[in-house]
Amino acid sequence: MEFLTEQVVSCPYCGEAIEVLIDHQEAGHQYIEDCQVCCKPIIFNVALGSLGNLSVSVRDENEA
Ligand SMILES: [Zn+2]
Repeated sequence: MEFLTEQVVSCPYCGEAIEVLIDHQEAGHQYIEDCQVCCKPIIFNVALGSLGNLSVSVRDENEA
């Protein structure tokens, strides 16, 4: 079973809306992707909720 979930997040640096596609295999993982607008590295965190829903949050690399 494979679900792709589309989420829209905002770049923590420039605020640009970014569409990301995540799947269940990425739950619990984080990855880094450069913002297409400001080219700074955004840290994406993919989490699996108790209802089986995927959510993604972003933070900048300077946050602890
Ligand atoms: Zn940006």
